[in-house]
Amino acid sequence: MRILLVEDDPLLGEGLFSGLERENYSVDWVKNGEIALTAIESTPYDAVILDLGLPKMSGIEVLQQTRSQGHDLPVLILTAQDAVSNRISGLDAGADDYLTKPFEFDELCARLRALTRRSRGLAEQKICYKNIEIDSAAHTVLYDNEKIDISRREFALLEELLSSAGRVLSRSHLEEKLYSWGDEVDSNAIEVHIHHLRKRFGSDLIKTVRGVGYIIAKE
Ligand code: CA
Repeated sequence: MRILLVEDDPLLGEGLFSGLERENYSVDWVKNGEIALTAIESTPYDAVILDLGLPKMSGIEVLQQTRSQGHDLPVLILTAQDAVSNRISGLDAGADDYLTKPFEFDELCARLRALTRRSRGLAEQKICYKNIEIDSAAHTVLYDNEKIDISRREFALLEELLSSAGRVLSRSHLEEKLYSWGDEVDSNAIEVHIHHLRKRFGSDLIKTVRGVGYIIAKE
């Protein structure tokens, strides 16, 4: 899953950025409102973490413009402790949830999971498909009830395909979900990950739709 982090405080931003990467998210970190808006317009994020006090354009303006352009992606706002009015205007402007600084990183992750789960229409944190069970919170994959070790990208790819079961996902869409701006992506990166997943879970799981992309059939 790909997350946009909008935070101008270098220390907090750095901490969130590396923490979220450890949680297997692909993260783009921007430090002002204008760039945030451009990023949202150009990239299919799964969620945005948005500080409200930002240079160039406030978080509230970013949010208002995002919603007025019809983007309905989940937005979690970060607000200063004393600013109740900020929280209210944030929620009124279309935020889905908020956290008050300072907050626990684990709580941020839990809220993020809840938001992305809801936006994908999933009732539970675990995705179960035939003999595969993946848990995005615990980062575990079970196959025939046995724990399988897979790489961070393979996990993200499997999660993406399983949560969109029945839909063909193009290679470029998968690249956008798995990698962030700074990542170097080999032209055959997705094929290589698919190959590894097929070796783990059998060649029938992921079907190639020639010239279009990949699909896991609906159960
Ligand atoms: Ca700030």
